[in-house]
Amino acid sequence: MAGLSKAELFEAVVNAVNESGWNVLYLAPSTIHPFQIQLYRGDEGYRLRIYIWTLTHGGGSARPADEYRIQVTGVDQLHLFPGEQTLLLGWWEPEGVFAGFDVRKHLGPLGRSPSIQIRRSCLEQAQIAGFSPCDKGNQEIAIAFRPDFFAEYVRQMEPMHDFGQSPEALDILSDLPQHPVINDEAITHLDTNRRRTVISVSRRLRNNDFRRRVLSAYGQRCAICGVQLRLIDAAHIVPVNHDQSSDETCNGLALCALHHRAYDQALLTVSPSYAVMLNAGQAEELNRLALAAGIEEFSRNLRQEILLPKVIAERPHIAYIQLANQIRGWP
Ligand SMILES: [Zn+2]
Repeated sequence: MAGLSKAELFEAVVNAVNESGWNVLYLAPSTIHPFQIQLYRGDEGYRLRIYIWTLTHGGGSARPADEYRIQVTGVDQLHLFPGEQTLLLGWWEPEGVFAGFDVRKHLGPLGRSPSIQIRRSCLEQAQIAGFSPCDKGNQEIAIAFRPDFFAEYVRQMEPMHDFGQSPEALDILSDLPQHPVINDEAITHLDTNRRRTVISVSRRLRNNDFRRRVLSAYGQRCAICGVQLRLIDAAHIVPVNHDQSSDETCNGLALCALHHRAYDQALLTVSPSYAVMLNAGQAEELNRLALAAGIEEFSRNLRQEILLPKVIAERPHIAYIQLANQIRGWP
């Protein structure tokens, strides 16, 4: 497969940032490679330089069938940029997976036709599980990851690549794609930083899994107004912090940003028969406070009944709806 253009690769990066729930600022025109962008969400942000090439098969029968690689062209040398994080990425277009390489291992003059490899099996595992560490030997770890893991990769990339220094620690990281629920005992002997990384990655994998299931069940549409527009969150019906919450799809609702907020604030809810209900008491209170502007239009845009997933087991479970309404103070 021919390499994608830099514009297409830039688009893959921006889509990935959005898919992982973060936002992008363009710090330089997208035609300048390495790309310069800033990632941010709330008050957390990262300035990035991104080297990226298309991942292709190693080519020819002389190379192992499992070997994929980027060919580093168009630059004499890879650099680290002070005050920024430098990413060295490959993008596997057919399956929509990134490979993150440890740029610190590839500084200095490049040889003729330099290439950097990753195993196809790691890319495939990442496609299914969200991410997959790939041991390249010589303490070098490549990380294959899906677009929804992009921001987590940025946040954890150095500590993650550093797992290559300890085979025991790497075993634990490598086990996460299959068993993202970790028990504290298994990680007590890790140092604090590694423990933090493992906990953060495992939480991200579980959240991403929940989000993918819920959004797919609702066709990426808000259950309450039907909007798509990539403005959709996977909301928990019984909130995560409650001890009876779960990550089952039937404890999820796909909601647009507006209706997610309104649901969490109990301005509206869903009844056990799936009717959308506006909180009359709250509407009155808002009226009294002169904060009810737009409420007619807001009510008009609500569906009478929520959109429901086709698969019955994925629909909101009545017990979750009842508990959620009770703990959010509905009469
Ligand atoms: Zn909505």
